[in-house]
Amino acid sequence: METLEAPERSAVAGGPNERLALHVCCGPCASAVIERLCTDWDVKCVWHNPNIQPEREHDLRLDSMRTVAERTGTSLAVLEYDVTRWMELREGLMDQPEGGARCLGCFRMRLEATARWAVSQEIGTIATTLSISPHKDVAIVNAMGREVAGRHGLCFLAEDFKKRGGFQRSVELSREWGLYRQTYCGCLPGMR
Ligand code: SF4
Repeated sequence: METLEAPERSAVAGGPNERLALHVCCGPCASAVIERLCTDWDVKCVWHNPNIQPEREHDLRLDSMRTVAERTGTSLAVLEYDVTRWMELREGLMDQPEGGARCLGCFRMRLEATARWAVSQEIGTIATTLSISPHKDVAIVNAMGREVAGRHGLCFLAEDFKKRGGFQRSVELSREWGLYRQTYCGCLPGMR
């Protein structure tokens, strides 16, 4: 099957009035990414992280994200916490090491939901905070982002947000704003 790739956008290609649907994986990562993007884009945050388990951990991280949205004056769309579907889609992959096939599917599920939401809001460009993490392979994240966005007729903002001190800035802002910082990626196998 032919793969449709999204046209890429550069960080300064938007404009303060152009909306960008930003998938946010947690408050600390979102803090520095929003700070970097919000001068060039009208950032709309999208929360869809059914990979985060158990539910009390999910809610803790969501609370932290709500603080970031308040601090940065950005909107936050909270999508369904569909753990059952996440488990169904990841079935048979729970023994895979972090960074393997389970993680690829996990990225895809969250990017897909963000793309569908962007289409429903008539937003033409999507992005994700995932590349700020030193534990995520930026080439994989961005390739998947382009592919998912392209299938929905959207552009993808392919960035490496950890560059130019991005990760360090997220640590600083987390301290300053008293954000909860998790100690594992999100799913139960990842925690183990
Ligand atoms: S380790 Fe992280 S990226 Fe991988 S499947 Fe678990 S939550 Fe998703």
